[in-house]
Order: sequence, then C-alpha cells, then structure tokens
Amino acid sequence: MNSNLDNLRHSCAHLLAAAVLQYYPKAKLTLGPSIENGFYYDVDFGTDKFTESDFSKVEQKMHELVKKWEKFEKTEVDENEAIKLFKDNQYKEELINGIVVKKEKITVYKSGEFSDLCRGGHVENPKDQLKHFKLLSIAGAYWRGDEKNKMLTRIYGTCFPTKEELDNYLKMLEEAKKRDHRKLGKELDLFVISENIGKGLPLITPKGNIIRKQILDYEYELERRAGFQQVFTPHIARSEMYKKTGHWQHYRDVMYAPFGIDGEEYVLKPMNCPHHYMIYTSRPRSYKDLPMRLSEPGTCYRFEKTGELAGLLRVRALSIDDSHILMRESQIESEFKTCIEMVRKMFKAFGLNNFYVRLSLADPSDAVKYIADEETWKKAGEKLEKIVKDNKLEYKIGRGEASFYGPKLDFIVKDSLNREWQMSTLQLDLFMGKKLNLSYINEEGKEEHPVVLHRGLTGSLERTMAILIEHFAGAFPLWLAPVQVVILPISEKFLEPAIKVKDELFKHNIRVELNDENKSLGGKIRQSTLQKIPFMIIIGEKELEKGELFVTIRTREGKDLGMVEVNKFIKQLKFQIENFS
Ligand SMILES: [Zn+2]
Ligand SMILES: [Zn+2]
Repeated sequence: MNSNLDNLRHSCAHLLAAAVLQYYPKAKLTLGPSIENGFYYDVDFGTDKFTESDFSKVEQKMHELVKKWEKFEKTEVDENEAIKLFKDNQYKEELINGIVVKKEKITVYKSGEFSDLCRGGHVENPKDQLKHFKLLSIAGAYWRGDEKNKMLTRIYGTCFPTKEELDNYLKMLEEAKKRDHRKLGKELDLFVISENIGKGLPLITPKGNIIRKQILDYEYELERRAGFQQVFTPHIARSEMYKKTGHWQHYRDVMYAPFGIDGEEYVLKPMNCPHHYMIYTSRPRSYKDLPMRLSEPGTCYRFEKTGELAGLLRVRALSIDDSHILMRESQIESEFKTCIEMVRKMFKAFGLNNFYVRLSLADPSDAVKYIADEETWKKAGEKLEKIVKDNKLEYKIGRGEASFYGPKLDFIVKDSLNREWQMSTLQLDLFMGKKLNLSYINEEGKEEHPVVLHRGLTGSLERTMAILIEHFAGAFPLWLAPVQVVILPISEKFLEPAIKVKDELFKHNIRVELNDENKSLGGKIRQSTLQKIPFMIIIGEKELEKGELFVTIRTREGKDLGMVEVNKFIKQLKFQIENFS
C-alpha cells in the first residue's frame, strides 16, 4: 500500500484518539492502525456509551485540535517511564510489556498536548495535512481479536490528502450501501438467511438459483469445450483422508468437529480435492489418460467466525466450482493457458473487464505452513511466473500467500465501483501426487506421479453472486437476469393477448412473467423497474390494432423501444443472450 497514505491515516487515528479523550477523559485507548481505505481506533469506553451520533462533535474537535499540531515529536522512554505515562491503562501496559519482551525501543509520539505509544509512521505536518477526514462507523472488536478478551469500541474513519478524493470516496460508499447485496438480495428475492437453519448458511431462492444455474451452465459449456469431465461427490469423508492430504494439519481451524459413523471418524469436507483424487486413483492410469480434468460444483464447509459472516460474501457452506487437473509436468503450461482463457472469457461475460493476477508464492521462512522442499517450491514459483508472463497477465507478487501445497495465481477483479475482489484461482500442486501415491504409467512402462492444477473459476459461487449483485446493482445483464421480460397488459381487457405473447416467449426459453394485477400501467412499470427486469412488454388497444402479436417494448432504464412484432423481439433477445451483452 501507499505508505504516505498509511502515514496520513494513522496520524488521523492519533487525532481521533486525542479528540475522544477531550469528551471521554476516562476512555482507555488501545491501538489505532491505518487499514485499507482508512483507519480505526479501538477504545475501551468503560461504562460510557459512544455512538455514531457522537461523530460530528468528535470530528469538530479533531478539526479544532489539529490547528495546534505542528508535528509528531518522538521520544524514547524506558519501561518505567512508559508504564507511568500510561498508568491505569492495562492495554497499553500489555503493549509495553510486549515491546520489552522483544527488546525493542519504546517510543512515544507527541502532537499538540496528546501523547501516544507508537512505533511511528506519521505525516510531517499534521496541521496542514490532516484536513480531509470523516468518521464512518462503529463496530465491536475484542482486544487483540480474542473472544475471551473485553469487547472494545472500534471507531472507523478515513482520511485523504484532498477534499476531492474524500468526497469521491464517500460518494462511492453511499453507492456501495445502495447496492449492498444483502439489501438487494432481499428486495429482489435472491436469497435468504434463516435463523432456523443457521448463520452463514444462505438459502438460494428460485430467482437467486436462476443466476446460480446460469453461471454453472455457462461454466459447464466452457468446460465441455475444453475437455473437462464433470463428477459428483458426497459432502463428507473420513478424517483419515484429510490427514493424508495434510488438510488436517494445515486447515484444521476452518474444519468442523469430526463425528463418528460405525466407529470411524468423519468430517464435512472443507475441500473437494481428495474426493477427486480417489476417482483418479480408482483405476490404473496411463500417460494417455492425461491430462485428466475432473470438475464439480462441490459444496464445502468451512468455519467462519460469527462476526465475520457477511451475507453471501462470507458463509459457512460454500460451493466451489472446483476442478482438479491431473497431468504430467510437461503439460503444466498448456493446461494453465486453457484455464486462463476460461477465466478471461468468464470475466468478459460478467462484464468484469478490469483484473490482475496475484502470483501467490511461499514465504520460505514459514516452514510450518509450507510443505518443506525449498527446491520444488522455487521451481513451481518460477514456472508460474513464466506462465503469467507468457499469457501477458498483469500481475503482482504476494509473498506468503501460497496455499500449503503450492503457489497459485489468484485473479483479482475490479467491480463497477472500482473495488477489488478475489475470484478465480489456479493453484499448482507438485506435492500431492507423490504424497498420496497417485500414479500413471509412462511411455516406458514406468510409474510416475501426476502433478495437480486446482482450479476454481469463480472460487465460491455464493461470493460470486454477492459480487455480481453489487457490480450490477441488481440490474443483471439479460443472460443472468432471473426474469428477462415482464408483460404488462394495460387493463384486464388485454389479458388474453398478453397470455398469447407470454406463451410465445416461454416457447423460446425466455424467462417471462405476466403482471396481471389490477393496477395502473404506471404502477406496474414502477414495480418492474424496481425489480430491475430488463424488458417490459406493454399490450393495449394501440398494439392490438396493429396485429395480435404486436407489443411495445420498454427498458428498465426507461427507454421506449417502440412497437414491434413479438417474434422479431424474441430474435433480438436471443442474440443479446448468446452474446452475453
Ligand atoms: Zn502513531
Ligand atoms: Zn483442490
């Protein structure tokens, strides 16, 4: 991240803390880092209450205080001085002890009358630089993220170098709020989360499932053309299997507790890989069988903390459009190329034209996380970097972001609000074939181990739905829209011709609804516009005069496309659907 911006925002966190103390002198300050898009400060308000309605007075105080903030003045203090300075604040005391244990220097930064324990990273001239800030929201946060600790009040804010940047960001936030997929999911009836079923377990409604199925059908067609074979596997497996793959050791904290069947221990699957491996290894394989591309939209179960669940974005049961390509080392590049092409096509169909790749590599110093074998890791990393370059992908390196079995390409898309989301992932696995003793017979009749490409096209279908809902603000392109056309007869008198038109559309696989409510046309148009249905067909006297299957077309954007014969309109619809436009 841009370190100037980090310094600016972290400095603003100091300013927030100083202003908070003016109103709540007994509040205990803890930590105030900069984060992506802003900063926060975690405060223990004791018995006092702090709410968003206090923001404006605190912001005013911040503007007032900063006028006297000439600079951040650094002082080194010893342990005793530090403890004295932050007496009665057990959080700072804990932080000080942590610094002492690490034998690091204790530094305090003073600006105006306010001093805070801090490692540094501030602006040079707070008085002039800290002007364009805004407090945004409040959340509960456990001290040090540990549920056993006290819940603190986290105050989020942001700060920008210029007013224009701040205004643009706030505008974007407003827009994001309007298109929040949880809100639109309810309004457009796409999914529900029922307390009776459980948190983080979204139920996809008929309309939502049309979107989900459209995505899967689209992917299925991409896969069919690229020689993938679809499989189906159950949602549970013996724990023993995950111990062999290493998931048990590396993935345990997101797996649910095991349960027993006939004295054997089972788990809900956190990943689909082992199931696919066992299909591979169920028969003797020859080099002629490779690459073998097994694929499945497989539902996996992963633990997420309650506080981190967010609509469809973070769930406890997710469907991964998961494929495992078992191949020879010589096939790595061409298989990656195929998958990269699939990803490109899919992003285009989704209208996500702005993306880059994070080349996620191992951090050699983290021996716990990564299967030890530095040479293989290095080789795999270099291979992927070559692939990224050969395929002309824009990329950044993410050191320490690899999965435990190999480096990967993570595709990061930017949505219509320029927000970044991680979607597709292509992971190279040079270890598992050997580890699980998967094999094939080569040209010389000798046994070899295949390597694996783990491929998630969207990654998680639930997450993808959330991203698409927000990207399109619920106004899906025709091929994804749950209802593509709604028919609005002007009055009951026109119900019969409306049904005929509906049948015609239905016959051609257009997802059509007839609104036969006894409402004014204006009311029905408003209703359909709110439901973001791409096209409205209006049938009344004027249309009937022209001929039985004549209709007037209106778009959800309010454009009148005039009168047309319905079969001509169907042709236009089909063209648009086939071209994902
Ligand atoms: Zn600081
Ligand atoms: Zn996998």
